[in-house]
Amino acid sequence: MTKDIVKKKVRDILDGYLEVNNHRKTSERYAILDAVYDIGGHFSLDELGAELEARNFRVSRATLYNTMRLFIELRLVVRHRFIGQTKYEACYANEDHIHQICTVCGKVTEIESPEIADAIKETKLHRFRKDGFSLYIYGICSRCQAAISRQRNKLLTQKQDKNSQKSK
Ligand SMILES: [Zn+2]
Ligand SMILES: [Zn+2]
Repeated sequence: MTKDIVKKKVRDILDGYLEVNNHRKTSERYAILDAVYDIGGHFSLDELGAELEARNFRVSRATLYNTMRLFIELRLVVRHRFIGQTKYEACYANEDHIHQICTVCGKVTEIESPEIADAIKETKLHRFRKDGFSLYIYGICSRCQAAISRQRNKLLTQKQDKNSQKSK
């Protein structure tokens, strides 16, 4: 699905909801939805606010928060609770990736995994209708691994230096 088609589909979902519930179709909500789907990655409320400001939409934090709650209910957005930070992400037609979370620095990276997405698609669920999934793999990123082994080597050399001084 191209980005334009995705954006049209999600606008239709929002349209449908607002019509059924007799809510006003404020341009603000559509601007927020567009921004969410243009960002195309994880974002905080502050980052979303900044993106909207760049588009000349000034939206209060409370409005952003409430709009994200609505979008989550409509399955247009997922909320992630990464280590020490809350992030949001567009989720319509964006299911095939999984998250690698570094437990040392908190950095989040994404990888594509069609195999896992397929496996979940084929999993028989028990009295449950699935809307989507999020998957997190916890571990240590390569940068932190490098830093840790540098630290370890430094300690080792210090120890060796001490030992060689003792033996003198
Ligand atoms: Zn993601
Ligand atoms: Zn890290």
